[in-house]
Amino acid sequence: MSRVFNFSAGPGALSEEVLQQAKDELLDWQGSGMSVMEMSHRGKEFISIAETAEADLRELMAVPDNYKVLFLQGGASSQFAAIPLNFATDKRATDYINTGSWSKKAIAEAKRFSDVSIAATTEEIKFTGTPAQGDLNLNADAAYVHYTPNETIEGVAFPYLPETGDVPLIADMSSTILSGPIDVSKYGMIYAGAQKNIGPAGLTVAIIRDDLIGELQAGTPTMFNYATMAKAGSMYNTPATYGWYLAGLTFQWLKRQGGLTAIAEINQRKAKALYDAIDASDFYANPVSIESRSIMNVPFTLADAELDAAFLAGAKEAGLVTLKGHRSVGGMRASIYNAMPEAGVKALIDFMAEFERKNG
Ligand SMILES: *Cc1c(COP(=O)(O)O)cnc(C)c1O
Repeated sequence: MSRVFNFSAGPGALSEEVLQQAKDELLDWQGSGMSVMEMSHRGKEFISIAETAEADLRELMAVPDNYKVLFLQGGASSQFAAIPLNFATDKRATDYINTGSWSKKAIAEAKRFSDVSIAATTEEIKFTGTPAQGDLNLNADAAYVHYTPNETIEGVAFPYLPETGDVPLIADMSSTILSGPIDVSKYGMIYAGAQKNIGPAGLTVAIIRDDLIGELQAGTPTMFNYATMAKAGSMYNTPATYGWYLAGLTFQWLKRQGGLTAIAEINQRKAKALYDAIDASDFYANPVSIESRSIMNVPFTLADAELDAAFLAGAKEAGLVTLKGHRSVGGMRASIYNAMPEAGVKALIDFMAEFERKNG
């Protein structure tokens, strides 16, 4: 068996330890004689898997007791609609900060279900930075403020937590959840598609302050009703059982790494090494303003785009895959989520230096 270093933006690499454990337990989970995939979601085995996963996530993120943790389906993209349906009753006003491709998608969907104001946008600088707190044009009557702390495609991250007063702050953390400690109590809701930093695609995690759950827009589909999902322990219907299980294995793996403070140090080291390599060279460039650079998604361009194909082919030969940038941005993008080991980043940096020496 040979495993590559996979820099995919999503679905992203999973911890090898987690995959190995899933493999060991694939046919017979802990003496049950069956695979987790074959279990009733209401049986005691799966209930214990589900409860342990939630407890471990709560511990890792220090989720306060007055927050519900939901294990949903439909991806982060379904939440783009569910959020206004649940929180913007009577299609009331909502504030959105527009910092990139995922913000834009969230905004487009929210416009169908609420009266959206754009609190700030960085589109005119091609999403290469984040707006300052003082530039946020916030509406005190908004149902909530929505933002994307880490824009996966542009590689832009907020260097600060937006201050929104009494208006709940909602964060699409799909590509940054679990990358380091955060203060959950500052948010009304946090949500994330699992396939970047949690587990396989098909699972979506939502962490919601419980006093916000209740009223919702008339006609909201039951599957989008947070109150229904919370009451049913995310089992109103059949949940994504195997994804939930793998998420649980990932949470245990993160605890073994020392939790989010420890993983954050590793993530900072990985990102610094890669940005330092880019900045030290005239051959590679990253367009994002330094204070807003993402530690999870690192886009970079080559001095000559004609060399992109040769770079990707050489990288692949060196066991470094899925480095092609998003079609909307071009160039390269290295996604270095929790599961990317430091050795993978080092191998990439070594390859980049060698490629520059030969082609620069
Ligand atoms: C990947 C991603 C999404 C989309 O997630 P799906 O689960 O595919 O719907 C949304 N927001 C951000 C920030 C992402 O990185």
